[in-house]
Amino acid sequence: MGVKSDIEIAQEAQMLDIREVAAKVGVAEDDLELYGKYKAKISDDLYSKLEDKKDGKLILVTAINPTPAGEGKTTITIGLTQALNKMGKKSVAALREPSLGPCFGIKGGAAGGGYSQVVPMEELNLHFTGDFHAITSANNLLAAMLDNHIMHGNELRIDTKHIVWKRCMDMNDRTLRNIVIGMGGRMDGVMREDHFIITVASEIMAVLCLAKDMKDLKERLGRVIVAYNVDGEPVTADDLKATGSMAALLADAIKPNMVQTLEHTPVLVHGGPFANIAHGCNSVRATRLALKLSDYAVTEAGFGADLGAEKFLDIKCRLSELKPDAVVIVATVRALKYNGGVAKDKLNEENMDALKAGIVNLDKHIENMQKFGIPVVVTLNAFITDTQEEYEFIKKHCEDAGCEFALAKVWEKGGEGGLELAEKVIESIENKKAEYKPIYEDSDSLKEKIEKVAKEIYGADGVTYDDAATKELQHIEQMGFGNFPVCIAKTQYSLSDNPKLLGRPENFTINVREAYVDAGAGFVVILTGKILTMPGLPTHPAAENINYDEESGKITGLF
Ligand code: ADP
Ligand code: MG
Repeated sequence: MGVKSDIEIAQEAQMLDIREVAAKVGVAEDDLELYGKYKAKISDDLYSKLEDKKDGKLILVTAINPTPAGEGKTTITIGLTQALNKMGKKSVAALREPSLGPCFGIKGGAAGGGYSQVVPMEELNLHFTGDFHAITSANNLLAAMLDNHIMHGNELRIDTKHIVWKRCMDMNDRTLRNIVIGMGGRMDGVMREDHFIITVASEIMAVLCLAKDMKDLKERLGRVIVAYNVDGEPVTADDLKATGSMAALLADAIKPNMVQTLEHTPVLVHGGPFANIAHGCNSVRATRLALKLSDYAVTEAGFGADLGAEKFLDIKCRLSELKPDAVVIVATVRALKYNGGVAKDKLNEENMDALKAGIVNLDKHIENMQKFGIPVVVTLNAFITDTQEEYEFIKKHCEDAGCEFALAKVWEKGGEGGLELAEKVIESIENKKAEYKPIYEDSDSLKEKIEKVAKEIYGADGVTYDDAATKELQHIEQMGFGNFPVCIAKTQYSLSDNPKLLGRPENFTINVREAYVDAGAGFVVILTGKILTMPGLPTHPAAENINYDEESGKITGLF
């Protein structure tokens, strides 16, 4: 018998009524807004009721530089929370909502894997509770109001060559990257070049994820810059009088969603910003709620630790006063070998030399997380192709470095396979003091911030800037946004800005091409390589294999 696919395992699960799952962490039915039997939004009142309750411990799951397939951060996050519950600890995970783009593209769904998954996985991966629809609508309402304003006389004197707001949809559709709008007659709008981005790349997504409450959400929406006027001054959503209706569209989307793991433990799944041009983790509200509802809140940051964890720590924690107590770095034998120079199609073969060459990547990520003052536990996400020799080598390497290490078999065994990891995490939290500090200060200049991340985290010698980027950074500081954190968009495959430099690259510089401010989200985006904000589909997209079986009423082929 072959290995069961993620969706087959998920569909065999007997889910509990979400009210029973919520009750495990003391959430009464009154505080749930039910979306069917297995999904619920959490009412706004709950957080205020829990305000005085002591927070649980915060555990961040991150990874080394990955292979294109992903190294199992979500799987480990879910497995660890299942394991903690199995040990009798109260644990709630907080995760991002999947986007339809990767779901129908190459990567597939994002609800974990094997016996560490969130269910109902089809609903989670497809429309879920409609948050992405709401975000898409709010984004596009702002776009429609902007173009409408221009057509009706352009009182704000918007420079139509300097519009920065883009339309969005939650789909990989490269033909919409660059388009012309407003063709036709006079009443069909003003003709101009426009662009679509994927919903998860919209600033509205980042805003929703960073907002503390509705009041904060509205203030952030109001500050969003849509264009510049002919004098080069920013024009905002407030100037277009769009804030109120955008907030109305987001009234339900701002509430965190609760679902369950395969072992019926509660998970909050809320928001899903990109991890390159945005900060790449679930909403602040979901993380805070998880801390109130549990003794151990487990959460994930996108991509490798140089991107996701750095942003979690330098952006999300800074803006929302969260302080992690432990970091789990996920490593896989295949990603270590990939970092040691092995080709993608040879990753399943034992190769001790490549493993030894690639492990420097893990070392750098351990050092980086320690720079933020947080104790590290390394976990090896076990694959059936791993050999004993490979495993022993990694374990010894970590222990020699004075780092906690645990093998995780959560994909194969669920919570049971994560007990060793859960014990190491608890031990680390109890015995090692976390003293979170960000890598740079608010008061550093934007260039100082970029240079600190480049040198301290990426290991670069320095940073070079295209002239345009230097000018933009000056302009952003002149506009008064110099105190914002920086959100650096870079390849996820390397610590450098060159995806081909694997392992632990040295003697390189980072080149900044472009910069812009997301005034609503509250960070300055720094672009290094070319970043696609509207992905495309591959020759044979995953969508070709997905189906709805009318006999059984089941969705098939999602993975
Ligand atoms: P990430 O969050 O790092 O992107 P995921 O947890 O989403 O990674 O996992 C990516 C894919 O790899 C999923 O399809 C998952 O089922 C699969 N996967 C994860 N861990 C394992 C494992 N130990 N063995 C086999 N497949 C795995
Ligand atoms: Mg993930």
